[in-house]
Amino acid sequence: MKLPSDPADFEAGDGTRLESHAPRSGRTEAVDDSPVLGGTTDQTALVVKELTKRFGERTAFSDVSFQVAYGEVFGFLGPNGAGKTTTVRTLGTLITATSGTATVAGIPLNAKNGADIRRRISIMPESPGLYWRLTVTENLEYFAGLYGLRRAGPRIKGTLEAVNLVDRADDLCGALSKGLRQRVALARTLLSDPAILFLDEPTSGLDPVAALEVHHLIDELRRRGVTIFLTTHRLEEAEKLCDRVAILNTTLRTVGRPEDLRAQLFASALVVKTRAPLHDPDRLFAGIPAVQGWHSDAPGSYELSVSDPRVAAPEVTRGLVGAGADVLSIGEAQHSLEDVYLELIDEDVEASRR
Ligand code: ATP
Repeated sequence: MKLPSDPADFEAGDGTRLESHAPRSGRTEAVDDSPVLGGTTDQTALVVKELTKRFGERTAFSDVSFQVAYGEVFGFLGPNGAGKTTTVRTLGTLITATSGTATVAGIPLNAKNGADIRRRISIMPESPGLYWRLTVTENLEYFAGLYGLRRAGPRIKGTLEAVNLVDRADDLCGALSKGLRQRVALARTLLSDPAILFLDEPTSGLDPVAALEVHHLIDELRRRGVTIFLTTHRLEEAEKLCDRVAILNTTLRTVGRPEDLRAQLFASALVVKTRAPLHDPDRLFAGIPAVQGWHSDAPGSYELSVSDPRVAAPEVTRGLVGAGADVLSIGEAQHSLEDVYLELIDEDVEASRR
């Protein structure tokens, strides 16, 4: 299903036509003469450079730099108080940065460009912010009015289809479950056909089934090429949905594809399980050239440091069999995004103790 995105669907409060928000030619107009940041390209939805936000003495986030390409699902992770929501609010022009620069959908972030940026983005805050005594459709009609959307009917129908809510269109929002309300909130953010969708903890408080539904919707939006900036505490969610993730803890700790972060942080290893503990593991593993070191967390379970698991695995198997061991399994050690996250955040905790 294609959401309608005719520029004529939008009008400003004064009746003038507005551009549809999503980038069409890959180029959006910068409406002032602020310098374009180094590295900005027409394909870049967000360019954030050394951005800092302080509230008095408190630093919400500091010296944050990253870029997000159009069509990317970008995960923004970090512990409570890391500055995630404040980053979203800053990029969403709700508050001003203390220092640093950014372009959002091609437009330099500054006070003058706020309205222009807001026409090209949508923010779904953690709480859905709907009118419970209005129906789903009435809520969407109301927000379409606020967005200055003309001919809202087809757009509302399109967004309801996008979030699988057509059959609940006439239900009062107050009568919907939390998960369904999140879907309405998502429909609302889609009304304006945003170039960038900011989702702030969209599955917070949802049960696993409702969260899975939201995941499917995000996946569907990704397939349509919507750029999504997703803040979440759910690491498995980020791992599943995001092309790249950033880990923030006031400063940016890392940014990259989950698999690259795993590779950067964790050396390659093989996990070997044997029916009984090895008689002399030191001697056995020292005799296998591909093994650089080993440790054991449990009887009959060994993690071997290797530089290339595919080269090492056959050598290790031969060595074990040669030593008369009953091998139950041998495989590459798997590290999750959660391992990466915990490793980095633990480093910060340790550093703060020093
Ligand atoms: P959570 O995961 O708990 O939602 P977060 O990563 O979104 O946290 P923020 O809400 O961005 O974190 O808060 C970052 C820091 O900025 C916190 O120390 C918070 O207390 C502070 N902060 C946020 N908004 C304000 C404000 N309006 N005035 C003063 N301090 C604020």
